[in-house]
Amino acid sequence: MGLTLPEIEIHEPENLKEACALLKKLGRNARILAGGTDLIVDLKEKRAKVSHLVSLAEIVDIDRIKKDGKALSIGAGATANRIAANSMVARFLPALVDACNSMASYHIRNLATIGGNIASAVPSADLPPILIVADAKVELQGPRGKRKVKLENFFKGPRRTDMKPGEVLTRIIIPAQPKKSGSSYHKFALRNATALAVAGVAARVEMEKGLIKKAAIALGAVAPTPKLAKRAAAALRKKKPSRELFEKAAAIAVRESKPISDIRGSAEYRRDIVEVLTRRALEDAVARARGKKRK
Ligand SMILES: Cc1cc2nc3c(=O)[nH]c(=O)nc-3n(C[C@H](O)[C@H](O)[C@H](O)COP(=O)(O)OP(=O)(O)OC[C@H]3O[C@@H](n4cnc5c(N)ncnc54)[C@H](O)[C@@H]3O)c2cc1C
Repeated sequence: MGLTLPEIEIHEPENLKEACALLKKLGRNARILAGGTDLIVDLKEKRAKVSHLVSLAEIVDIDRIKKDGKALSIGAGATANRIAANSMVARFLPALVDACNSMASYHIRNLATIGGNIASAVPSADLPPILIVADAKVELQGPRGKRKVKLENFFKGPRRTDMKPGEVLTRIIIPAQPKKSGSSYHKFALRNATALAVAGVAARVEMEKGLIKKAAIALGAVAPTPKLAKRAAAALRKKKPSRELFEKAAAIAVRESKPISDIRGSAEYRRDIVEVLTRRALEDAVARARGKKRK
């Protein structure tokens, strides 16, 4: 027998103020609906039980991608395909384009939003690691106004975030990336399409006089939340890029990961993958920082 959706009332507020007020009033009985690619599955499988959905579809500008001073602002309602096709994103953070294109399938990417990918707080989500190494913040609007949270501090556990009742994630703010910096995202999944990451690694490096001035590495799908591998990144500082150096950092990143065994792979398998992906992500990030895109 097929799964059916329970009876649900769908609300379509026309602005954020109305959306926040509705969410506050309906409390635990309501969830925000963006593309629905996570939520509809959760409702059908009864992982989520609500009688109201507050759709973001009618809110003007929630999907807008624009410059904000020197930063880039991506509206929470922007889909993976829109982000991947945006020329400002391609110039600003090309690794975000790679991460968007690595998600699901073309059809799902037409619906899947960046806000939903972050807010669902699934440890294997593809967009948080690259946004974390890029120092992104999320803007949240609630009944009492707006606040910004560093994405690194936003995740509290699997499917748990810092969002308070009545809040909507409105946009993601990515600061200007330093000159001579480069980022990359590498994912391993069991199929080429429509598959969640067994592990994903994002890296960013900033170069100065041929040495790595600063680095950041974020691991996805190998801990309850996306995780910065701080000791691995520290091992790269003031060093000349080399395969040996990247292997050393990758071995440290493995020790910083906390993978579990599940249907997609054992913890040991994930540790092996983190090692390979970290090395590749660092190689690509350095190549981008030097203006030579590898691939
Ligand atoms: C077959 C399949 C394959 C997939 N493959 C991948 C993959 O390879 N990589 C990957 O990362 N993901 C994958 N996903 C998961 C999913 O497509 C993404 O996480 C997607 O980005 C979710 O966005 P959405 O707009 O569909 O969110 P929705 O399903 O609408 O919402 C997801 C959650 O976020 C909340 N939410 C949504 N928007 C906001 C907001 N603005 N503010 C606050 N809360 C909000 C909702 O209430 C809900 O709890 C896959 C899903 C399917 C069905």
